[in-house]
Amino acid sequence: MADLNGDIEAEAARWFFASSEDIFVVLRAGVVERVNPTWTKLTGWDEAEVVGQHFTDFAHPDEHQLIDDTVRQLREKGQAHCEHRLKQKSGGWFWVRANSRLRPDGVAMIVLQDISEAREHEAQNADAARTNDMLREEAGVFVWRFDPATQTYAVDSDLTRTGGPGIPGRRMLTAAEMSAEIHPDDQERVAEAFVGTVVSGAPRVVEYRHFKAENNSWARLRAAWRGMRQQAGGLWEVLGITQDVTELTEARDAAIEAAEVKARFLANMSHEIRTPMNGVLGVLHLLRHEALSEDGRRLLDEALGCGAMLSELLNDVIDFSRLEAGKLDLTIEPLQPVALAESVVALLRPQAEAKGLYLRLEAAPEEWVDGDPVRLRQILFNLVGNAVKFTAAGGVTVRLTSKGEAADHRLRFEVADTGIGIEPEAQAGLFERFQQADGSATRRFGGSGLGLAIAQGLAQQMDGAIGLSSEPGQGSTFWVEVAAPRSNTAGAAQDGDTGLDLISGLKVLVVEDNPTNRMIITRMLEHLGASVTTAEDGAQGVETAAAQAFDLIFMDIQMPVMDGLAATAAIRALDAPAATSPIIAMTANAMAHQVESYLKGGMNGWVSKPLSPAALVRTIAQTLAQAWVDAA
Ligand code: ADP
Repeated sequence: MADLNGDIEAEAARWFFASSEDIFVVLRAGVVERVNPTWTKLTGWDEAEVVGQHFTDFAHPDEHQLIDDTVRQLREKGQAHCEHRLKQKSGGWFWVRANSRLRPDGVAMIVLQDISEAREHEAQNADAARTNDMLREEAGVFVWRFDPATQTYAVDSDLTRTGGPGIPGRRMLTAAEMSAEIHPDDQERVAEAFVGTVVSGAPRVVEYRHFKAENNSWARLRAAWRGMRQQAGGLWEVLGITQDVTELTEARDAAIEAAEVKARFLANMSHEIRTPMNGVLGVLHLLRHEALSEDGRRLLDEALGCGAMLSELLNDVIDFSRLEAGKLDLTIEPLQPVALAESVVALLRPQAEAKGLYLRLEAAPEEWVDGDPVRLRQILFNLVGNAVKFTAAGGVTVRLTSKGEAADHRLRFEVADTGIGIEPEAQAGLFERFQQADGSATRRFGGSGLGLAIAQGLAQQMDGAIGLSSEPGQGSTFWVEVAAPRSNTAGAAQDGDTGLDLISGLKVLVVEDNPTNRMIITRMLEHLGASVTTAEDGAQGVETAAAQAFDLIFMDIQMPVMDGLAATAAIRALDAPAATSPIIAMTANAMAHQVESYLKGGMNGWVSKPLSPAALVRTIAQTLAQAWVDAA
């Protein structure tokens, strides 16, 4: 036996470059004549058990046909090979690759190599590839290639499957067929971008609608492509990846829509609340002029304080929703930064002094710059207000510095306090909305947590930034830096208080449909010494203005019969002197573009609701000063 095995092993080695790891079988007329020890090792049967049996009996029934075919080939060509499963004594199967040769004496030699491991691998790979394909299709992602020479698209990275971009299971598509699937409104845009790449090779990303025959609907596809290889004619082969983003887009649109609805709702509600607030605060202001008991006066001051806080909160919410919607416009005018900082410090000094704190301003005299004084004051007011609020001993120093020249001129405000400071972990998120360093329910300090978020939004709008450094227990320094080009035109010096003399004896017309508002402004103006006539809508206003010239007209914007802008136009069309009366808009819609439309419409100034006596005086002074300058 050993000899014989030695024989066939030598022969197998010569013919098949086989090793003793392989199985050798010698057959005559399909019947096993000899096997080697590897056969026994791998199948479990020893030689005596298999000699005399048909070899086919050891092959898997599914592969009997294959074996018959292989045998036929062996007879015809003298050699053959195939892969099939071989039975084990234990009942299992394993894959072998069979190489066979027919000797002239009619004996067949077969070398069988165990390939079960490789087969296993292959199966796994095929599974993985199938899963990959499935995932890709599920995710709606397709890779494609366009050949300008044949004007056809082929889909998928291995290019074994064909179809158009985004259409699995399609045959090769021509460019014309491809573009017919694109929504008519998108065709031109896509074609233009695509031709651009075919000509230049430059990468492009486009989104478009694509017809989906399965459910007779438009899918939204996002395709990114680039030139891959330039062909002899100069045109580029294009490699692209297309993704079905229908669901993503719908989800994104829904999220954006929801956010917009929320922002709109917030802005509208705040606005709606602010209108009656106007009435409440106005009435409270008027009450201060009445004879009240000491207790009544104390209660009134309390109510005014709360009203002011509520107003501030409403303004914060409106500002914040506008900032988020990108709808907060700045109104740029000449301003003096030092004067601005001084006014903020002066406003907050009583609060600081009440707590025994110092509040200092360190600033070199500054020239005029261009900026939004209202918004800049708002930022500074927030920072200094916080510093006073969060400091118990010591005080607050406001520093103003500037750098850069002409158009590159920038302002930097630093607000340093000796207060409680902020833990490092809390510092990072502080500029996010509703963030407070102390988020606990039992926190000592009130506030909405909107202030810093708004300050940051405003600073960014001013092409600037905001930041802080802080040491818990030692204090904080907040800084804000904004672009503030040096101004060419110095603004007119404006001091609210000097307005008082201006107003006494002034003949004023108030055109306002809301009775409460009409009463409030009338009383406020009368307290300032003006003599007031009223009209209840725009038409009545024009009639009154035509009958008698006024020194000043206050005009509501939204009114029945004739609105404020139409009434202004009609007054401007009257004969002099009625036509030239300065007109001040009273409005709750004080966004920059709206204010601009009032001024364009012939008005001379505006005052925002809710009205406060200080704002009223300031606006009257500014408007009259300007009107006189214009008249001169
Ligand atoms: P609000 O003051 O209304 O809560 P802000 O956005 O202005 O909202 O401030 C957010 C938080 O930042 C405050 O609640 C406070 O925890 C912290 N903070 C702001 N300024 C200071 C400061 N100067 N010192 C200590 N903490 C501060």
